[in-house]
Amino acid sequence: MIIAKFGGTSVADAAAITRTVNIVRGCVDRQPVVVVSALAGTTNALIAAAEQAATGHLVTAIAQVEAMRDRHLGVVTELLGDGDEALDIAAEESMLFDELAHLAEALSVLGYLTPRSLDMISSLGEQLSAPIVTAALRRAGIDAELVDGRDVMITDDSYGRAEPIPDLIAAAAREHLAPLIRGGKVPVLGGYIGATESGVTTTLGRGGSDYTASLIGAAMEAEAIEIWTDVDGLLSADPRVVQGVRLIEHIRFDEAAELASFGAKVLHPNTISPAVKRGIPVFIFNSLRPEGVGTRITFDAPRLPVRAIAGKNNVVVVKVRSPRMLAAPGALRAIFEVFERNRTSVDVVATSEVSVSLTVDDDLHLDAVVAQLRAFGDVSVERGRGIVALVGAGLGESSPTMAAALTAIGDVRLHMLSLSATGINLTLIVDGDQVKPVMQRLHAQFFGGVPA
Ligand code: ASP
Ligand code: MG
Repeated sequence: MIIAKFGGTSVADAAAITRTVNIVRGCVDRQPVVVVSALAGTTNALIAAAEQAATGHLVTAIAQVEAMRDRHLGVVTELLGDGDEALDIAAEESMLFDELAHLAEALSVLGYLTPRSLDMISSLGEQLSAPIVTAALRRAGIDAELVDGRDVMITDDSYGRAEPIPDLIAAAAREHLAPLIRGGKVPVLGGYIGATESGVTTTLGRGGSDYTASLIGAAMEAEAIEIWTDVDGLLSADPRVVQGVRLIEHIRFDEAAELASFGAKVLHPNTISPAVKRGIPVFIFNSLRPEGVGTRITFDAPRLPVRAIAGKNNVVVVKVRSPRMLAAPGALRAIFEVFERNRTSVDVVATSEVSVSLTVDDDLHLDAVVAQLRAFGDVSVERGRGIVALVGAGLGESSPTMAAALTAIGDVRLHMLSLSATGINLTLIVDGDQVKPVMQRLHAQFFGGVPA
């Protein structure tokens, strides 16, 4: 049994859905559960319409709703023709759009949007896409069966980013999915959407369909989770920054999670954890080129010194200096508690006896953080820094790699440097404008090619 998840671009229009149908046809004997996203761009459009309605722009919101209706009904006609089944689906989709229009009117009267009502609206994209994909599969002779994602993905009530409840999901999967699979059917459900135990609609947060796929995969002990998207897989670096990037055919879970934290858009970091815990391999495939090898993510890929080079900008370095206090037991804990209290997550840390340097991505609460850190000593804040990381599970064991990395970056000023104890990444903090050249030099060093 496998999970085959198709992202928004893999169900964007009739042609994409037809490709998806062919891919599912190719794996029917592996007993797939199909998870789909909304048609590309729909979730954004839904959220925009909700916000417009709540801020007094009802006419614009309704125009958005009608544009979405036209798009979905157009896809239904193109894929399914105008027979009875197509008309049924079109009628059901239209009803959802009528509901959406009513919700928009209600929001414009209320003048505000709650996270709970936003979930009702933003989850409509998957409620609309899943029936279309199911019908397209059936039309192609595949015994597909629509399952409401809310029957399976049981969550708490943190609207907008609900927390899944694994035990309840496992029980729901046994009840709603397993019998279909045993009966030779292909269950199809929308990702991203969930419901509380009492049945109120929730969502898992943006990009949440991958999370759905991996949670269901974990719950059902799937053999594999396939994430079908519009890129070939994970790459050795961001192709917009580096020339001559290579496809990573096999990568370890921890390395992939590390890359995801650098904004490798292909995979949501949370996708990783439920599957990791069960040792289920996750594959990334390109639905535009289904014959490609894709990227396989497992526990046990060989430990290479360098698997990929990642980078990001807009990093803030916070330094605390205090000869007296930092030597005291518990000082670091107290410093980290300041970040925790202010909901600011720390990325990279380097310490000495008299100072500690940390980086953060998100400076929303930085003023409060800095004010509270002053209790420990002198605090300085450096903005406009960047991080470049060399990611590879074998890095910690390879002194030649580290020497080569430091040689490759040449005379670029390093503000911080950190090697994680697990040896999975060497992290360099540089000036923001050096991120690109440093990535290029490192990539040329370890993957060949010329630095641009
Ligand atoms: N449609 C949702 C979003 O755009 C979930 C997903 O595609 O993963 O965030
Ligand atoms: Mg998506």
